[in-house]
Amino acid sequence: MLMWYTLESMQQYLLGIATFLTILGMVPTTLAARARPELQGQVVIVDAGHGGRDFGARVTGVDEKDLVLSISRKTAAALRGAGAKVVETRRADSNLISRRPEPSNLQRMNLQARVDLAARNEADIFLSIHANKYSDSSVHGAQIFIGENPDAERQLLGTCLQAEMSAVSGGRRQLDMLRDLYLMRHLTIPAALIEVGFMSNPAERSRMLDPRYQDQVAQAVRRGVMCFVRGRSALNLPPHQTKDPIATPDVPPV
Ligand SMILES: [Zn+2]
Repeated sequence: MLMWYTLESMQQYLLGIATFLTILGMVPTTLAARARPELQGQVVIVDAGHGGRDFGARVTGVDEKDLVLSISRKTAAALRGAGAKVVETRRADSNLISRRPEPSNLQRMNLQARVDLAARNEADIFLSIHANKYSDSSVHGAQIFIGENPDAERQLLGTCLQAEMSAVSGGRRQLDMLRDLYLMRHLTIPAALIEVGFMSNPAERSRMLDPRYQDQVAQAVRRGVMCFVRGRSALNLPPHQTKDPIATPDVPPV
């Protein structure tokens, strides 16, 4: 009797533990299912650089405009997967300006169209995806450009993206806050130009053409954006840090 009692108690005890462990296992899943996706509420512009007649860098038959379109599509999907509302500047090999005859300042108009798209969509974050080219083929690694005199938000975005992209690409390139870029100068929101790597470096070029590496880049950008959004709330910065609009000076595009 005592034995039976003990056995019965033991069974109940084990059943209790099993139930407890099951519930424990289910709680995080339930919470995760109910939790707000981390980038929900964020409007992100994903800009595949160049397009149409503007092919960007060209190395051994590979055009930057095609390479970055592929990476941008994957990046857009990764950000959507994390809950962001993503607007893509182009989803095919095209200009943003369709005017005949093509104006002589088409390249600058294409850049301004990107700035206008961000304003129309009240975007929170702008990411422009590019691939680099240099005369020295040993130069490699991802690099983030955020334009001259970036504010605290843009520096945070750039720092987050540089860390994530360097971890994936290797290399020792650092966040650039010196180069004057049309997009960075005219956008008034957190924005970054992501040079994924160097097409002039044969190893990096073939890696960038590999869809699996492109997926890794897309995930690195997603993590960088998440790092920025978390960091911004820690800094208590408002989601829209609007500045006075900057007049459009008559300058050549970069
Ligand atoms: Zn480019």
